[in-house]
Amino acid sequence: MPVTGSTACCTTMNNSQNTPRTALITGASSGIGLATAEKFAGEGWNLVLVARRMEKLLEVKASYPVRVDVLNIDVRDRNAGNNIADYIKTNGLRIDLLVNNAGLASGLEPVHQALVDDWEVMIDTNLKGLLYVSRAITPLMVEQGAGHIINLGSIAGKEAYPNGNVYNATKFAVDGLTKAMRMDLYTFGIRVTQIAPGAVETAFSEVRFHGDINRAKNVYKGFKPLDAKDVADAIWYCANVPPHVSIHDLVIMPTAQAAAAMIHKVI
Ligand code: NAP
Repeated sequence: MPVTGSTACCTTMNNSQNTPRTALITGASSGIGLATAEKFAGEGWNLVLVARRMEKLLEVKASYPVRVDVLNIDVRDRNAGNNIADYIKTNGLRIDLLVNNAGLASGLEPVHQALVDDWEVMIDTNLKGLLYVSRAITPLMVEQGAGHIINLGSIAGKEAYPNGNVYNATKFAVDGLTKAMRMDLYTFGIRVTQIAPGAVETAFSEVRFHGDINRAKNVYKGFKPLDAKDVADAIWYCANVPPHVSIHDLVIMPTAQAAAAMIHKVI
């Protein structure tokens, strides 16, 4: 049965076989990645989930009647992508969708005061990690002549904001890389999409402020931010348009946020 993406009966089938489609999601233990895993599992997709913390991945595995493979992998490891690809090949899996979601902001200080360690972790995760995984998975998609990659960018990759410096730089890199990857891959029938959210209430700010929960909570006070499910729904939509349709770039913002550093707060 061909995939049309338009009816419930067909959305879980891949193009060439009558088998459920499979999504590989990095950073699936929290926030947007976890909500995306739950959304796709709920719709009958099989999953390969990657993160360092296993607990939530195992909960997803236990909660849905689909195949869920969980991999304890740090995407900063140069072998991360190859290890994932080896697992996929060894287990005879086919990846229809790669969601490059693992990422973080670390710190919010001006460039002359920021911690170099924060910069390293953001560059290693948001940029190099995405590259390691993509480098290993894209040959499998090229070989199968189909596939879809969805990169989690950010409004921070469209507009810089004060103290955003290296987080901005990594997400601007994701923006550029998404365009360049598409140019390299579209002739193989592979779609490449960027989802660029504004403020989403997840563990993101707690991580950014090194565990300072009160500072993190303040970020979301006085307006309604997106929640992870809003973004998961957008990812679902992009993954389920008909095969001849490619959404290149989707910016999704809270209504109360007009630009990266412009949030209407009523406190
Ligand atoms: P989150 O709740 O903190 O989730 C981040 C996820 O990334 C976690 O599952 C974490 O898993 C994983 N991760 C981090 N470092 C990793 C590593 N080295 N290896 C493997 N997995 C790693 O944050 P989120 O808001 O959902 O963020 C998801 C993505 O959305 C990020 O790329 C972020 O930049 C982007 N984004 C977020 C917002 C926002 O406002 N929240 C806005 C725009 C874009 P483990 O810690 O278990 O490894």
